[in-house]
Amino acid sequence: MRPASFEYCKPRSLAELQALLRDNDGNRKILAGGQSLVPMMNFRMAMPGVLIDINGLHELDYVDDAGSALRIGALARHNRVMHSEVVRAGCPLLAQAYENVAHHTVRNRGTLAGNVCHADPASEMPAVLLALDAVLHVQGQAGVRRVAAEDFFLGMYTTAVEPDEFLAEIEIPKFDASRTGHFLELSQRKGDFAICGIAVAFSLVHGLFKDVRIACCGVGEKQSRLVQAEQWLENRPADAASIAGCGSIAAGLVDPPSDTKASGAYRRHLVGVLSAKAIEAALADLNRR
Ligand SMILES: Cc1cc2nc3c(=O)[nH]c(=O)nc-3n(C[C@H](O)[C@H](O)[C@H](O)COP(=O)(O)OP(=O)(O)OC[C@H]3O[C@@H](n4cnc5c(N)ncnc54)[C@H](O)[C@@H]3O)c2cc1C
Repeated sequence: MRPASFEYCKPRSLAELQALLRDNDGNRKILAGGQSLVPMMNFRMAMPGVLIDINGLHELDYVDDAGSALRIGALARHNRVMHSEVVRAGCPLLAQAYENVAHHTVRNRGTLAGNVCHADPASEMPAVLLALDAVLHVQGQAGVRRVAAEDFFLGMYTTAVEPDEFLAEIEIPKFDASRTGHFLELSQRKGDFAICGIAVAFSLVHGLFKDVRIACCGVGEKQSRLVQAEQWLENRPADAASIAGCGSIAAGLVDPPSDTKASGAYRRHLVGVLSAKAIEAALADLNRR
């Protein structure tokens, strides 16, 4: 399989990247790790006329602890984020969820920013960023827009990034001592995309659930938060009845499609089971700290 012909450019500065994106009508595509874009080009599901390779922009390759938040640059590879000490300390949910994403060789090349810009509905990281209240810094021609994860994922393979913009940075609030989270999924094989995945995050204050986030992937056109399940769990005690109740409410909030991997009914069942199990696992993580 060969891609359609394209022009290739490799900017040497952010100013050059900006200039290349100016007046882009969608025919120009950014190449980051190439782990999603190149297969799509080979299958001719994507046929950009111009590829803008950002791999020379090393100033975009960072994972920083910025006090109350982590800042992850557009060129930070999956493996770098997954194994980063600042991520493991400041946001253990992100590192733990990565155990479900692709394989070592793919993670060596692919980037977190490329993953969320690709916005595959079965991808894990968009759900994780929703649960983490991440903020995405979108660089446009006139400046940077800060877009909440909730407003970033618009639909299947569609995000809030306009053709003349790029995702420059992902900002993730750090967990404090009371906050915990966990990601669980079912996939056909380890490293495959999720048939159903659930990311949860919450604080435990005097034995009560607070600031609950529950987000799902693989069960619809895009990753989304299960807001009514979050609200139901808010201020309830951390016991088996609360967790079971939250799971059944979560299952009632989705209407997943059927495909060759799983029926819609099975996926709905998984949303309930995985939500409850992810909450239990997050509580266990908190108790181990
Ligand atoms: C065998 C295999 C298994 C995989 N399994 C999984 C899995 O289980 N879960 C999962 O989530 N993913 C999986 N992936 C995909 C992988 O995570 C990719 O790395 C990721 O989806 C895309 O990141 P990338 O850096 O390679 O981006 P690219 O492929 O280079 O780009 C992807 C898209 O994002 C755009 N883009 C990239 N960076 C930016 C930016 N900074 N600003 C604006 N647009 C940008 C590109 O133009 C393109 O449209 C798998 C891939 C392979 C090959």
